[in-house]
Amino acid sequence: MDVWTYDPKEARQFAVEVMERSNQNIFACYQCRRCASGCTVGEEIGFTPDRLIRMVITGNRKAALENALVWQCVSCYTCGTRCPNDIQAGRVTETLKKMSREDNLVPMSPTIAYFHDSFVTGCTRWGRVNEIQFMGAYEMKHMAKNLVSLNFKAVWKEVRQQTLLMGAMLKQRRLHLKLQTAKGRNEVRSFYKLAMEKKKKGRPPTLPR
Ligand code: SF4
Ligand code: SF4
Repeated sequence: MDVWTYDPKEARQFAVEVMERSNQNIFACYQCRRCASGCTVGEEIGFTPDRLIRMVITGNRKAALENALVWQCVSCYTCGTRCPNDIQAGRVTETLKKMSREDNLVPMSPTIAYFHDSFVTGCTRWGRVNEIQFMGAYEMKHMAKNLVSLNFKAVWKEVRQQTLLMGAMLKQRRLHLKLQTAKGRNEVRSFYKLAMEKKKKGRPPTLPR
């Protein structure tokens, strides 16, 4: 079991990085737990946004990046609508998810990680999500894992499920087969490139007063 010890300097650095990247003033959190009572997944996973924010502020980086809420948050933003300090914990979970991917940590839920990566790749290339391209990328990652572990039963189950889903979506006209691109895709690409360059340079966090 990993033992975590509080280090004020490290804690501040981590919390400031999360605050800046998520654009949420987590230092304003006074643990009223209003977000906790409305969290859609809190009860199921046994962990709530108030506790995650506390974890970040106290600098428990490993536990925060490997937290179930980070991977199971459905970005419903209910927590944010209840917070008296306008803190959107959904943005915090999204930031922690990105940081966890950057640190190459094993995702708590591989399928959510495949979903996340396929979404980001599609958006940076086409400027928007294309259902067919997105589903293809996601399924390839998903199936590759099962093929490598020779789990043919899981592959067959996934193919069957997805074919049925695809048929139902086509019937409802909720699936577009044509590759669609956004007008501003070059802008999206340059934003992404800029963000990646900034990250490589290791922009020092600005400490709040
Ligand atoms: S509702 Fe806002 S202030 Fe209250 S615990 Fe949640 S994040 Fe903190
Ligand atoms: S956005 Fe995430 S953390 Fe906030 S209430 Fe919804 S599921 Fe919970």
